[in-house]
Amino acid sequence: MPSEIVTEGSAAAVRPGPARHVWRHFNPIVAGDGASDVLVMSRGEGSWLYDSDGRRYYDALSALYCVNVGYGRTEIGAAMARQAEELAYFPIWGTLTPPAIELAGKVIELAPDHMDQVFFTSGGSESVDAAWKLTRQYHRLRGKPGKTKVVAREGAYHGTSMGALSITGVPSLREAFEPLVPGAVHAPKVDPFHSDESPREHSLARAEAIAEAIEREGPDTVGAIFIEPVQNSGGCLVAEPEYFERVREIADEYDALLVSDETICSWGRIGAFFGCQAIGYEPDLITTAKGLTSGYAPMGAVLVSDKVTAPFREQGEAFTHGLTFGGHPVAAAAALANIEIIESEGLCDRARSTGSHFRAALEGLADLPIFGEVRGIAMFQAIELVADRDTRAPFSDKQRQALLDFVPDAIREEGVICRAIHRGAPLIQFAPHLNARPEDLDEVVGSVRRVLERASELV
Ligand code: PLP
Repeated sequence: MPSEIVTEGSAAAVRPGPARHVWRHFNPIVAGDGASDVLVMSRGEGSWLYDSDGRRYYDALSALYCVNVGYGRTEIGAAMARQAEELAYFPIWGTLTPPAIELAGKVIELAPDHMDQVFFTSGGSESVDAAWKLTRQYHRLRGKPGKTKVVAREGAYHGTSMGALSITGVPSLREAFEPLVPGAVHAPKVDPFHSDESPREHSLARAEAIAEAIEREGPDTVGAIFIEPVQNSGGCLVAEPEYFERVREIADEYDALLVSDETICSWGRIGAFFGCQAIGYEPDLITTAKGLTSGYAPMGAVLVSDKVTAPFREQGEAFTHGLTFGGHPVAAAAALANIEIIESEGLCDRARSTGSHFRAALEGLADLPIFGEVRGIAMFQAIELVADRDTRAPFSDKQRQALLDFVPDAIREEGVICRAIHRGAPLIQFAPHLNARPEDLDEVVGSVRRVLERASELV
């Protein structure tokens, strides 16, 4: 997929001095006048993006695992414009708005049957924070105020606000901000590729590690377990179905709530509206964001099961938590139009079928000397690279740095957006639009092959 300069129809170059005032997330301050190397993305159409110089890219990451239905969907823009004209904003604290009502109804219709309430937020971190607070208030209402802690998994990313960051198990993201909120502990992640056990044995052992963490912390102090259906950080880590069965049992045995963080893995990403439906487990809470609006507006939500709402209903208690923009009417209108597209275009089914085509194409890279494995579900896939395909030997620090210096830029030069060698980890991750064309994904794989052939010679 060689990148191409397309001037016609692309946005005019917008790279003046003010770029130096935009503090990019997780990146150093832009040096000088900002006119140098920073990529400025200006326009999107379907699965394609155009930067401010008119260069075209294929987006194989749905921006940041968000844009599930692709760019330029005028139905979503029109729904947002109509709502902004009708009622741009009103809160859903003591009151409600028509789009928030309609959206909550739609979400509950699509969610697992035991879900009862939808608590709207503005994104994933806010959903995770709200879920943790909700588990605390739930246990308090049941006379168990000591159950404040959560067990999450090492390496998992659950967001960056102080609560969510405390649940996040990535040391390099936590260090600068310690001490964090007390009470979040981490059990080993599921990572069969680096284990000598069978995937089933490994998954079951890693489920038991959650029980061990609860025992260590004291069962009376642990109120929740946070897991993702497919763990993003670490490169689409997939557990066997028995893992989820066992984690569900452990949650019940220890009277802890099971929270499924589906910030990425919902709205069709892994082939069903919710990731837990795709895999087949029943969480007590689901956190979601990103694909809820396909990124057309910032919005998240916590889905709350009837088990969790019961003590609030019985005692007539409020969840003492709120956000000005939770359930924002324009974002809710975007979400409704987005969900209508996912349903009417059958994008959950397409994610499964196009995902298996894409997966097979990625597996075709197995002849490369640095190919480790492909893993993931549906439209959420990653390749792990290794120093030696046959022995699975890891890269040395020097080799890892060489990959980091070469692969991300080379893939962008190919005109592909994906996540390459993220935070030094030897992974390439993809989350294409759910309506991506299989032939375009074949070209993405062709680009990745060209880059990895050159990378193999560097390490
Ligand atoms: N939880 C998971 C699983 C995520 O992947 C993310 C972001 O990628 C978050 C939470 C945080 O979401 P946000 O960046 O919208 O706050």
